[in-house]
Amino acid sequence: MIQEGTQGLFFNNTYNTIVTDSAASATQMATGVLSIPETIGVDYNGKPVETLMELAKKKGKSIGIISDAYVTDATPACFTAHTAKRGNRRDIARQQIKLGVDVISGGLKYFNTDENQHLLEEATAQGYQVALDRKDLNKITSGKLLGLFSEAGMPPAVEMYQHPQIPSLWDQTKKAIALLEQNKKGFVLMVEAGKIDWSAHANDAGGVLAEMKVIDEVISLARDYADKHPGTLVYVNADHDTGLGTFVYHHLDSNQAAHKTEQGEMLYGGNTYYADFRTYKLLEKQKRSLHSLAQELHEIPMERRTPDYIQRRLSEGLGYVVDISQFDNVRDINGLFKQLNRLYGLSWATGNHSAAPLISIAYGAQAERFGGVYHNTDIFPRLKDAFGWTERKK
Ligand SMILES: [Zn+2]
Repeated sequence: MIQEGTQGLFFNNTYNTIVTDSAASATQMATGVLSIPETIGVDYNGKPVETLMELAKKKGKSIGIISDAYVTDATPACFTAHTAKRGNRRDIARQQIKLGVDVISGGLKYFNTDENQHLLEEATAQGYQVALDRKDLNKITSGKLLGLFSEAGMPPAVEMYQHPQIPSLWDQTKKAIALLEQNKKGFVLMVEAGKIDWSAHANDAGGVLAEMKVIDEVISLARDYADKHPGTLVYVNADHDTGLGTFVYHHLDSNQAAHKTEQGEMLYGGNTYYADFRTYKLLEKQKRSLHSLAQELHEIPMERRTPDYIQRRLSEGLGYVVDISQFDNVRDINGLFKQLNRLYGLSWATGNHSAAPLISIAYGAQAERFGGVYHNTDIFPRLKDAFGWTERKK
C-alpha cells in the first residue's frame, strides 16, 4: 500500500451543537474559533473574526476561492466574508469583491441579481476579468479573475457532459493556480467540491461517486503541483459528513435467495447479499442526478406515472436497466429510490448531515503538523504554524 502524506481524524462540533452545517464548519476552519450554525465568519457571539484568507492577503499572498456550488455559498463565504446569516448572499458577493480576492470562481448566483446589478461593473472597475464560460477562461492569463460559470451551482458531475462550455473544477483550479502563482510571495487557494454534499442529501450514491471523482482529479493536480514546487502544502478534508451512507449486507427473501452469491452460500446458507463490487460499475454509468430525476418524475401527473413510464425514464437516467417489477408501489418516487438503494445494499442513515468524525490528509511541506486526532478549530492555528505566521509572545 502506498503511504503518502499525513492522515488525521478530526471532529467538527460547533459551540452549541453536536451536528454542524457548512457555515459553522467553514467558519471554524477559516478562523480557528468556535461558531454557531448558519453564521459566516463570526464567532459564537456574532463578532467578526479574521479569516485565513484575510491574513494571507495581509502577508502579501494572492488568495483564491473556487466552488462548484455557488461562490457565495457557505464554505467560500466563510473564508472571505462576515455576516450573521448565510442567506445574506448579495452582501457576501459584495464583501468578496471588496476584499479583492484574486480568484473567485464557481457558480454565478447572487452576482447578477437586480440588487447587485452594478456589482459586475464594480468588479470590472476594480480590475476583475469576468469569465462566463470556458472560452472566456482560456483567454485570461494574468490578473484578477471572477469566473461565474452557471446560474446557481454548477450542474451535477453526472450531467456535466451536457455542458461542454462550463469549465470543470479541475479546469478552474488549474487556471487559478496559473494566475495565483505569478505572485512571488505565494498564494493560498481554497477549492470546494460542494456537490458531494448535495448528492448525499439526495442519498444518490452514483451522484456522490461522480462528485468524488471530481475532487480526486483536483487533488491529483494539487499533489503534482506540490511535487514540482517544494514548500507547497496541500491539505484535504471535508467540512462534515452528509447522509452517513455505506454498503450493508441484507437478508434475501426466498425468491431473491435463488440468485444467491457465492460468499453468502458459504457463510449464511446463501440468504445474505453482501453487496457486489460490480455495483460500482453500474453507479459509474449514471447520466442524471437522482435529485433532477425525482423532480421530473414528481411533476408527471399520477395517471401518466405508469410503471412502464417510470421504468423507461429511470433506466435512461441511470444509464442501465433496472427491473422495477421487483419493487413495491413504484409511483412513490422517494420510495422507489429507497428500494433501489436497498437492492444494492446501500444504506443511508439520513438525508441530512451527521456528526461522524472526518479524515484529513496533508501532503507536502509541514504536512506532519496535521496528524492525530483533532478538532476543526485546530486547523487554522496549525496552518499558521506551518506558514510561520504564529505570533510568539516574547
Ligand atoms: Zn449539506
